[in-house]
Amino acid sequence: MFDPVEKLAAFTRFPSVSADPAFQSGMEGARDFIASLLADSGFTVEVVPTPLHPIVLAKRDGDPTWPHVIIYGHYDVQPPDPLNLWQTAPFEPAVRDGRMYGRGAADNKGPLMVHLAAAVKVLRENPDLPLRITFLVEGEEEIGSPSFLPFLQERRRELAADFVLLSDTGSPNAEQIVITTGLRGIVAGEIEVIGPRSDLHSGVHGGAVYNPIQALAELCAGLHGPDGRVNVPGFYDAVLGVEDWEREELSRLGVSKETYRAFLGVNGFFKNDGYSPFELVRFQPTLEFNGIFGGYQGEGSKTVIPSRAGAKFSCRLVPDQDPIVIVELLEKTLRERCPPEVELRLRFGHRGAPYLVVPPGRSNTPADQPPTLARAFATAERAVARQFGKPPLFLREGGSVPIIADFKRELGLDSLMIGLFLPEDNLHAPNESFHLGVMAKGIEVSASILRSVAGAD
Ligand SMILES: [Zn+2]
Repeated sequence: MFDPVEKLAAFTRFPSVSADPAFQSGMEGARDFIASLLADSGFTVEVVPTPLHPIVLAKRDGDPTWPHVIIYGHYDVQPPDPLNLWQTAPFEPAVRDGRMYGRGAADNKGPLMVHLAAAVKVLRENPDLPLRITFLVEGEEEIGSPSFLPFLQERRRELAADFVLLSDTGSPNAEQIVITTGLRGIVAGEIEVIGPRSDLHSGVHGGAVYNPIQALAELCAGLHGPDGRVNVPGFYDAVLGVEDWEREELSRLGVSKETYRAFLGVNGFFKNDGYSPFELVRFQPTLEFNGIFGGYQGEGSKTVIPSRAGAKFSCRLVPDQDPIVIVELLEKTLRERCPPEVELRLRFGHRGAPYLVVPPGRSNTPADQPPTLARAFATAERAVARQFGKPPLFLREGGSVPIIADFKRELGLDSLMIGLFLPEDNLHAPNESFHLGVMAKGIEVSASILRSVAGAD
């Protein structure tokens, strides 16, 4: 018997923290566990080495004319700290009130187990199911998937498929499932402004030099216009319009602005240029400051002109903004605007492209999509309605999962993202848990999708 809850508990027991080398044996344990489980379930398993944490590739091959679905998941988890805030130990999974508690239970071991249990179920019902399935389970998702793109490029041929099925996104509650149709991209960077060769006495030299904190503040403040939009020429050039169906779906979300405002604990929303806050986080790009440093930070005052100051920022990008172009625009704008009396240093960190899939039948301008993808979306819609009592919402999400854009760009594959995380799951936080009711229904939804893609529903 394949008991998904018991398997999830066993899987969650491995402390597979990819960010910290101290957890190496936990990474190995989780990897061996999922590899053996896939092998026991009839898949041909290969553990593909990478410079850091290997990727588990498990296949059910078959006739090359059969449809081919890739199921993506990750076996690594976030660090468990702060440990004292956990009710039960993060790597001693415990079931309370219909939830499995433990680090990684929701992100992403539970949702991965949903799709594995579904595959086991449909293959047990029909051992001759005309469907090729490839599980692709990586161990570096929580550290930015550095090995993933080279892996896709290397295995391009064998990963030729119809679409990707995964659950690594969220839904607002256990009755309302969201199928994620878009993700924002990301560009992260750091601005540093260098002034005098050392900190200066603000009395002796004050007035003679351009204070780096002031220059930094002016540069940063200039990056948004009075309407709240990012004030970098060309920044919005590639931003796609929002279609009516997307606004309609969003209007069914049923959260009021006031509820959202109170949840955030703010007095009001940022300048919006005519967009609702719900639209802004999904349909519009941003430039946010993530940290700022410079000068004296200690007790009391110190009358100093600092020699340097800096800020960290990140942009969330929307389709069809290109991270490389955005980096160029930011660099050009900041260099032009920086006063010549100080020196500007710019560093750009990780970046990822945005992603958008139009659910078949929704748009006036239909995309060129394989019929299997259309079947999968239609089946997902019906199966979610049947299992959860309400049809899903097809919504873009504000977050970034750059590998989804990589699948599209490198392999031409769209993704069907069924949101199985709930707000109460506490992803990346203490007391992470996965809703076992959502898990059971999710297995049925995933099984329906696999059957229908194989033409066996
Ligand atoms: Zn995840």
